[in-house]
Amino acid sequence: MQKVDYIIKADYLLTMEGDLSVIRDGAVAVTGSTITDAGTFPDMSGKYTSDNVIDGKNSVVFPGLINTHTHAAMVYYRGLADDMPLQEWLEKHIWPNEMKWLTAEFVDDAVELASLEMLKAGITTYTDMYFFEDVAGKKLEKIGMRGVLGAGILDFPWKGVAECVDDYFRNAEALIALWKDNDLITACLAPHATYTCGPDNYKRANALAEKHNVPIHTHLAETRHEVAECLKRFGKTPVEYFESIGMLSGRLSAAHCVWLTDNEIELLAERNVGVSHCIESNLKLASGIAPVPKLLKAGVKVAFGTDGAASNNDLSILGEMSTAAKVHKAVSLDPTAVDSKTALLMATKNGADILGLGDKTGSIRPGKKADLVIASLDKPHLTPLYDIYSHITYCMRPGDIETVMVNGKIVIDKGKPTTLDETEVIARATAWRDKIQGS
Ligand SMILES: [Zn+2]
Repeated sequence: MQKVDYIIKADYLLTMEGDLSVIRDGAVAVTGSTITDAGTFPDMSGKYTSDNVIDGKNSVVFPGLINTHTHAAMVYYRGLADDMPLQEWLEKHIWPNEMKWLTAEFVDDAVELASLEMLKAGITTYTDMYFFEDVAGKKLEKIGMRGVLGAGILDFPWKGVAECVDDYFRNAEALIALWKDNDLITACLAPHATYTCGPDNYKRANALAEKHNVPIHTHLAETRHEVAECLKRFGKTPVEYFESIGMLSGRLSAAHCVWLTDNEIELLAERNVGVSHCIESNLKLASGIAPVPKLLKAGVKVAFGTDGAASNNDLSILGEMSTAAKVHKAVSLDPTAVDSKTALLMATKNGADILGLGDKTGSIRPGKKADLVIASLDKPHLTPLYDIYSHITYCMRPGDIETVMVNGKIVIDKGKPTTLDETEVIARATAWRDKIQGS
């Protein structure tokens, strides 16, 4: 018998590997930060022993959910400005507030609230695009959450962040050096969008990402306004423009991709670009609906992102799955579009793949890191149960998540955080609200 650190039992185990079949009476063995084995409990109990056996009676175990696009610290602007178009929301509300409040201290505090919300909702990894990512990364290491932290890049200076464009690149290089070979944190280049970042800075960011073998993440083809501006400035639609400046590759994950021509969909597939689908943010800002069924059919890897809480307004991938699975059916008049298995695959394995973390997380397989979620099925809204994939996509809520493990450590235990004080995190957020509101 081999001694392991944890044996996690579950009535239902979804590994998100192979044919996506459901393992009944399943178990996962974990040693250190790594998954040792996964299979049926009778098989596993014959091979492994542990002092920590988590009894997953009436529960399901699946890989940690992956949020492939957010601006975590913007959680402090949740509900600050709603019910208006993207440009007005950004230019009249978000940017003026960021000019005033965005500091290392703001990010340090806000990241706690965002991480807590995400972990409690079963999200074990998120991709960020923001500033002070060194501060965010140090906080994430303390909390024990996985992050792909994108150093924001703009064409213009930002008070307190970058006095000139070179500063953005200096920040990015420092971030890459800081998180090199880190188990939890991956540094990333995050030029903002075609309307805030010109071709020279995109090319420079791409060259830096290639040099250091790190991912690159950006907003792309989010609104019709962006497409019109791109056509005016460069004579090309956003994805074709990206092709012309050499941006399209497997290293790139692009958030939104709402307004795409058929040719652009083909380009994304050919160049192996990952798409982060942020349906709730797109719906709320009335940006439009990304052609996800077409993208999937063309072979593009599509995953989910929440975007920032200021435009969503929550940080729940379960919410994105449910919304996307329904909206795409209605829009395409096809009830098979984004079925429940596809939705969970997008939220887990596809997410890891588009971030370059496919060997580390996104599915339950020996040798991968132990990023796992245990959700209770003992709830009225999850009863009766015929199809576990259906329940996770259409009925499950963040409150059903009981236990969350990241890198082999339990960070949410029976719904409670083990590395954060929830009362303090909420009090700090409320104190910031008072300051922002009083300004
Ligand atoms: Zn965004």
